[in-house]
Amino acid sequence: MSRLIIVSNRLPVSASRSEGRLELTRSVGGLATGLGSFYKNYQSSWLGWPGVTLEEITDSERSTLRASLQKESCYPVFLGEKDMEEYYFGFSNKTIWPLFHYFSQYATYQQQFWEAYKRVNAIFSDEIVRIAEPEDTIWIHDYQLMLLPQMVRERLPDASIGFFLHIPFPSFEIFRLLPWRREILEGLLGSDLVGFHTYDYVRHFLSSVRQLLGYDHTLSSMHIQNRVIKADAFPMGIDYQRFAGSGKRDDVKAEIRKMHERIGKRKVVISVDRLDYSKGIPQRLEAFDLFLEQHPEWRERVTLILVAVPSRTGIDNYMILKKEIDELVGRLNGKYATIGWIPVWYLYRSLPFPELTALYSLADVALITPLRDGMNLIAKEFIAAKNEGPGVLILSEMAGAVREMGETMVVNPNNTEEVVHALSRALGMREEEQIEVNRTIQKRLSRYNVTRWAEDFMGGLYKVKAMQRELAVRRLSRRSWQNLVEDYRKSSHRLILLDYDGTLTPFATRPEKAKPDHELSKILECLTGKKKNRLVVFSGRDRATLEVWLGNFSLDLIAEHGAWLKEYGKEWETLEPLADDWKGSIFPLLELFVDWTPGSFIEEKDFSLVWHYRKADPILAGVRVAELEDALLDLTSNYNLEILQGNRNLEIKHGSVHKGRGALRWITREDWDFFFAAGDDRTDEDVFIALPGGGYSIKVGLSSTQARFNLDSYRELRELLRDFAKADEC
Ligand code: UDP
Repeated sequence: MSRLIIVSNRLPVSASRSEGRLELTRSVGGLATGLGSFYKNYQSSWLGWPGVTLEEITDSERSTLRASLQKESCYPVFLGEKDMEEYYFGFSNKTIWPLFHYFSQYATYQQQFWEAYKRVNAIFSDEIVRIAEPEDTIWIHDYQLMLLPQMVRERLPDASIGFFLHIPFPSFEIFRLLPWRREILEGLLGSDLVGFHTYDYVRHFLSSVRQLLGYDHTLSSMHIQNRVIKADAFPMGIDYQRFAGSGKRDDVKAEIRKMHERIGKRKVVISVDRLDYSKGIPQRLEAFDLFLEQHPEWRERVTLILVAVPSRTGIDNYMILKKEIDELVGRLNGKYATIGWIPVWYLYRSLPFPELTALYSLADVALITPLRDGMNLIAKEFIAAKNEGPGVLILSEMAGAVREMGETMVVNPNNTEEVVHALSRALGMREEEQIEVNRTIQKRLSRYNVTRWAEDFMGGLYKVKAMQRELAVRRLSRRSWQNLVEDYRKSSHRLILLDYDGTLTPFATRPEKAKPDHELSKILECLTGKKKNRLVVFSGRDRATLEVWLGNFSLDLIAEHGAWLKEYGKEWETLEPLADDWKGSIFPLLELFVDWTPGSFIEEKDFSLVWHYRKADPILAGVRVAELEDALLDLTSNYNLEILQGNRNLEIKHGSVHKGRGALRWITREDWDFFFAAGDDRTDEDVFIALPGGGYSIKVGLSSTQARFNLDSYRELRELLRDFAKADEC
């Protein structure tokens, strides 16, 4: 049975001191319930902070606590007060939280907090390594632990690592403000699967990875070094039945009765949140104020029950906000209250389940208007608790939950007039209509509940692992590597076909960086120095460049994807006479795209034109590529041209010319007893196909291919070629 280790900042059970003694209380939060079902299928453990700092407990209490937590399969990560102050209240909640919720003006960037964040993530990784087996599944949660996936990956390279972010991932323009943005991304990329609540957050993450680290993605997957990593959206659900069935519980019924007695026939609007600036509570109060002003007919007929759960009370911004809300409530009540009616009932505390669900059940309207929220479970819980009954949800379009609840009344929380209008519509809406809307959403919420969410995430993680395994099968194993070198040694008439960029050298954006370095020159000297070898380098580059870089080695060259061929010591020749009159029609179009896409440029080769966009804004370039392909469609079919999508370039060349055709000239010419070809991109596939059966073809990189084997990178290929050289005693 596989083992699952869940890791989050807090454990699902928390220690606290009551009358001098340590007590454990169980959390009933979404995560704890959602992951509960996995305990049945896996040997699971949960790792996190136990709720008390090292200074708050004695050494002996620490061991007792460890032992009692272990009975619940929980493992504590003990942290000192300073660590909690700087890592949790500092970096997590004064840097990441405000920035990721688009409150960049509240974000502080302190080196000391960052050091603590790294330190505590490292403590977590030590604790994981202490209990984990090499192939365990590790599911890491949330913004406090974003460096952890990479830290664990370094120490447990074969583990399945999933990460889920419960808050928004902001757009690149916001994320880039973070001084340690690269480190955070690299930390997350230690995962196999990175999950977010919505696809918007996935897009933002992928865009930041592309713009800051230069890794591209296809269908939300990235090939980084030797791993496939996927980012995807998994909107977290709730324990639907628990909320839908709450109305049947006696304690909830009693609460409802009690509340009804106090409220009488008045309509009830509820507002429930943690007291956090991201929730937009002052704006909501202002909207309610305006509503009472513009709709005097509702005065004395409606009550707003405002629940603000105390949160992060030690942080300045939270204290200031608390004061602001206190004052706003006071002012509003002072302005409208009458004998017998208080417009806002203000509860500054956390409500237990029976009280909370009684409120959900009783409310006519839930006014949930965060300025930014990763998901917002309260919105989902409210609709679930409504069961068959009426009730209207007014939901902010800035909450992740809106993606699954578009049928509700969606508002922009900054648009006070719109919120006022929504309130007035909601209070006047026909009950059948309310029930109808709720029913549609309820169906969705009951299907995609928190257990489904967790199962879905796990399924996604295993799919990525399966993909990685599939690629690993094609990777040249140690044994095949040895067989290949042995075949090389035994042979006496060898044809070695090598692509250049990305295969023999890393991809370089500047030409001077792409020319052969010392190591490659040594390898080429060795291989070409043996009579048994015939070496051909094939490339999309123009012949002049290849001549300058490789002209000194006794090897043959194929340039411009096969348009030009050159045997060592002879002149360049073309495979067949090729026309270039088409260039006149296509060049002006490419020039237009250069003007429209700053940073892009045209490269003209003898028989092809290339539009390079590696220096352009990648998002704009993505749009332009599609437009250019579209615009080229007619022109290219008239001239029998082909469009090649290269590494951040688009090349227009003759349809009949390809590297495979060029390579065939060498393949068919002599009676070789050893064939070897290596390449890294789509244009090299034609060479692999042209190779006779029994030949060795190697794809550099882990994407799918017609080649027999894959290698991770140009480094590995160089290592293999060095082994060839050694076999020849060079
Ligand atoms: N909650 C609660 N008592 C309260 C108010 C809220 O138990 O008085 C719970 C609520 O049921 C929900 C969670 O707190 O599951 C809040 O989650 P949400 O995603 O809405 O907001 P977050 O606090 O994570 O930003």
